[in-house]
Amino acid sequence: NNQIILAERPQGMPDSRTFDFVQKDMDDIKDGQILIKTLYVSVDPYMRGRMENVESYVEPFKLNDVIGGASIGEVIESKSDQFEIGDVVTGDFGWQTFYAAGENEVRQIDPSIAPVTANLHLLGMTGLTAYFGLQDIGKPKEGETVVISGAAGAVGSTVGQIAKIKGARVVGIAGSEEKISFLKDELNFDEGINYKTSNDIKADLKKACPDGVDVYFDNVGGDISDAVMTQLNKYARIPVCGAISSYNMEEQDTGPRVQQTLIKKSALMQGFIVGNYSDRFTEGAEQLGQWLQEGRLTYQETIREGFENIPEAFLDLFRGKNIGKLLVKVSER
Ligand code: NDP
Repeated sequence: NNQIILAERPQGMPDSRTFDFVQKDMDDIKDGQILIKTLYVSVDPYMRGRMENVESYVEPFKLNDVIGGASIGEVIESKSDQFEIGDVVTGDFGWQTFYAAGENEVRQIDPSIAPVTANLHLLGMTGLTAYFGLQDIGKPKEGETVVISGAAGAVGSTVGQIAKIKGARVVGIAGSEEKISFLKDELNFDEGINYKTSNDIKADLKKACPDGVDVYFDNVGGDISDAVMTQLNKYARIPVCGAISSYNMEEQDTGPRVQQTLIKKSALMQGFIVGNYSDRFTEGAEQLGQWLQEGRLTYQETIREGFENIPEAFLDLFRGKNIGKLLVKVSER
């Protein structure tokens, strides 16, 4: 079994010293267990936080342990009545090529609803994050303006499409021309702003949002968010989903204080984690699946090949190399 372990806790941007590749022999599976061959591994920005030894909403990774996270695999041996060889399952088995799972550790995937990989994004964590964060906190109404940072990523691209379903005007902020074209041409966003080439994000926002900003779905924090905060309307809502611009900073980020803006605009800013909605995941996944089948929602994947390329794929999230969900294909079904 090939595994990628946390060799060293990173300072700033992780690098080759952060990860180690190791091989482990596997024991025979026990009664009630299944042996899974990994097909796809998810790489996600939140994993950066778990590499630090600090208290958070998920446990930090332990040094020399396998990097955990959502994966998809195929059952290749079964000592469980609930699973057969050939079943496709998803669970939190992380960055390794094989995994012996208890039958309650994984969930079977129904390949008739959507391609199996959708369970690692649209029908899984990132889709549910978009679904609940936007609707429960953002509450977009018809005709309102919704601005999204990190708009061309897994969460952002879904948020924008749901906002369109709700009848909002949607403006996405992302880091390349290719991403802006994707947002406007493929996802029907009304406007896109390339923050890497913009000379004045505030001015560009003003132009893209002539009626101001009613909902700001924040995936990135930092300067981009400071600029959006200047354009809020009265009673604006700001779901704070992520702050990827600061995940690799060695010191706490500081910036303009937003309290005055929130007061003047009677705006609501609320952080959240998708886990807050765990008792409603089935409802969310069913609705997302229905919109997908009706053609009202779509998704994009950036798929890298090869187990050995997982760490670089992870780092590419911070270099903006992905459009939509970044996945690594580890083996064939
Ligand atoms: P994405 O697919 O959006 O990938 C990350 C993207 O972030 C990159 O493609 C890049 O796009 C952008 N980015 C990277 N560095 C910066 C930077 N310094 N400034 C601005 N943008 C940057 O990842 P996800 O969709 O999985 O996650 C999006 C956000 O949502 C993350 O912050 C993540 O932590 C958060 N999240 C929160 C959850 C929750 O429960 N609260 C659950 C899941 C995700 P670009 O080219 O545009 O720079």
